[in-house]
Amino acid sequence: MTDRSDRVAVIGAGHVGLVTGACLAELGHHVVVVDNDAGKLEVLRSGGIPIFEPGLKELVTRNVDAGRLRFSPSVAEATEASDFIFIAVGTPPRPDGTADLSFLERVSRDVGARLGPGSRGPKIVVEKSTVPVNTGDQVKRTIQRSAPAGTPFEVASNPEFLREGSAVNDFFHPDRIVVGVESSYAADAMRRLYAPILDDPRHPEFVVTDVRSAELIKHASNSFLALKISFINAIANICELTGGNVEHVARGMGLDPRIGPSFLHAGIGYGGFCFPKDLSAFHRIAKDVGYDFHLLQEVMNINAQQRQRFTRKVEEALWVVRDKVIGVLGLAFKPQTDDIREAPALDILRWLSEQGARIKAYDPVAMEQVRALFPEAQYCTSAYQAAEGVDALLLVTEWEEFAALDLKRLRGVMRHPIVIDGRNIFSPDAMAVAGFEYYSVGRAPVRPMKV
Ligand code: NAD
Repeated sequence: MTDRSDRVAVIGAGHVGLVTGACLAELGHHVVVVDNDAGKLEVLRSGGIPIFEPGLKELVTRNVDAGRLRFSPSVAEATEASDFIFIAVGTPPRPDGTADLSFLERVSRDVGARLGPGSRGPKIVVEKSTVPVNTGDQVKRTIQRSAPAGTPFEVASNPEFLREGSAVNDFFHPDRIVVGVESSYAADAMRRLYAPILDDPRHPEFVVTDVRSAELIKHASNSFLALKISFINAIANICELTGGNVEHVARGMGLDPRIGPSFLHAGIGYGGFCFPKDLSAFHRIAKDVGYDFHLLQEVMNINAQQRQRFTRKVEEALWVVRDKVIGVLGLAFKPQTDDIREAPALDILRWLSEQGARIKAYDPVAMEQVRALFPEAQYCTSAYQAAEGVDALLLVTEWEEFAALDLKRLRGVMRHPIVIDGRNIFSPDAMAVAGFEYYSVGRAPVRPMKV
């Protein structure tokens, strides 16, 4: 144990909680990660990892073996044993777009019931989940109601910016660590917790704000990133109508440091657990406080239309989809993860199924989850197998291995060499040379044969 080691509970062993817990243990803290999903705990306790996240398994194993990381089903026990209680449970969308905060409320009650004085001062309950502004006040009220009168504690917000697929690296090399606090005591304690990262020569910014601003930073950041994606997708659509090339436009834009090149990749649109739900939640929060954040509605509209435009390209290429054999490459919502929540591929599979197509699908890691939803599809062991005998191949997730496919071999196994690329991973010139009919996003189609 280092001098700066703290005792930390992380409630929720999902993408965020498990990564946060394992990484805090790696920093030298003593961490207990809690989950109420018995199956997940069983996997973790037997040395497995319930999610695919590069580097996480090694990290968990190392810290469990070192005695710094353990797993528990009990919020009560973890609360008693810890000075920091991170809440990292899900905040899924409700049908009306608002965030379902019932998991957070439940945990707040359970934490409150067992909160006592910490070993160094008041315990700090940290919101790690993405939550609407003012949730910190509700967490505080709920804990106050459950805790014995006069129990000292603080509520802080520490929004998470990790990206699935590079979550471990993002934890240790963040651009910034944001903490929303009510006191300098909490700010100092949070700084101590993250000290090994903040002391790194790269010095990420340690941004200290009030709790509400920290909550808003997370929603504003995700909304802005989604806005960039929808913006470049709108530009891609204009390129398709005017003969421009969106890759050239994005490069020309992105070289301006005020704009920057990231998140200017045209494609089938964003998915995943965060952007869709966080945008609709933020849109609703704004409405509830009396502000019509119409811009966010447009971001969501463009994103939904992008998937429809993709299916229209499939129809344009095939005319009739019924009974056609269609290969789908990529099912996860993005590369390097097995997360399929709100993945564009699910909408594409649903549409293909409704059209009566015969589906062959392949993803390096996400097939098992999808198989349960679309048992009628054939799941393949490689991209080439998924392409074998197909009338068209759809590229939905930009896994690196797809960009490295041998185009000649690919063309050789397909019945008709038609590729519809929702991620622009192939070069139109290379596809033309290889003899494909090729449709992508915001770039002129390649049609070797006169049609
Ligand atoms: P998740 O659904 O993968 O994990 C949540 C975990 O909490 C589950 O394992 C669930 O069993 C557990 N849980 C729920 N109620 C519990 C209770 N009462 N006691 C103990 N455990 C309980 O979710 P996630 O992807 O880790 O996201 C968590 C939060 O972090 C969300 O608010 C999300 O928006 C936010 N976030 C997610 C990401 C991401 O990339 N996934 C990034 C930044 C922020």
